[in-house]
Amino acid sequence: MSTKTVTMSTQEMYALKASLHNASVRKTPPYALYQVKTSDCVITAYESGKVVFQGEGADFYGSAHQDSSTPSTQKTTTKNVYPQCGSDEVGTGDYFGPVTVCACCVKEEDVNFLKELKIQDSKAIQDDYIMDIAPLLMERLTYSLLILDNATYNRIHPTNNMVAIKSKLHNQAYVHLQKKLGSLPSFCIIDQFVQKTSYYRYLSQEKEIVKDIHFETKAENKYLSVACGSVIARYAFLKAMEDMNQRYDFTFLKGAGAKVDENIRAFVERFGKEELQAVAKVHFANTTKAFL
Ligand code: MG
Repeated sequence: MSTKTVTMSTQEMYALKASLHNASVRKTPPYALYQVKTSDCVITAYESGKVVFQGEGADFYGSAHQDSSTPSTQKTTTKNVYPQCGSDEVGTGDYFGPVTVCACCVKEEDVNFLKELKIQDSKAIQDDYIMDIAPLLMERLTYSLLILDNATYNRIHPTNNMVAIKSKLHNQAYVHLQKKLGSLPSFCIIDQFVQKTSYYRYLSQEKEIVKDIHFETKAENKYLSVACGSVIARYAFLKAMEDMNQRYDFTFLKGAGAKVDENIRAFVERFGKEELQAVAKVHFANTTKAFL
């Protein structure tokens, strides 16, 4: 039995996996992104960038991918893998308004359309432009959007910290997306907010768990699917804030800065402290600071 090791970028690893249509997926070993088995080769892709080919077919598969192992070509290879799904969340740093999470699928044929719209991370796009383009994305792409209202958030927060809440929402979004698509593509990305192992630990009591997700920081700048998830999640957050403004005839501020503390006092004066439960994440320090 022979063994061959090749260095690849994460993108290349998932492109390799996507190209092996008849390979069976095995249990992912520690520090690996995946392990698959073809008729004559076991292929393990590690987080470190090493891909190990083992078995009679190792030379065949390994040599086919060896060209990309030289550092110079590796740097220039930024080809994206499609279809891909990506997810991101909005509202976790805002005192007022819901937490929204969106998981979104992008196919090869969507790429030009999205590039023309200059899709990037929602934090880098003006809110007006988000309101314009998000409906176009929602019409074209398959996505799952979850909105956690403040009353529910406040009820579950004593037993679920913010990271647990985010983990469960991202997982739920992927569970729904999987149902909509029939099956998920092999490359699914979460804009990393926690270590992968902790993410799955927070999901240990969940009924359905979507496995083998790739975690990467600043993913909204690197992957169109995450950028689209981010834009749709931001749109849902902005819409919810608009609805709240209308319902209370009051202007709620975004963020969690000192201005928000003033905003809280103005709101409580008109509607009472209890009503904060319906519009705010009350465990934020702003609640206490507003009344010091
Ligand atoms: Mg994010």
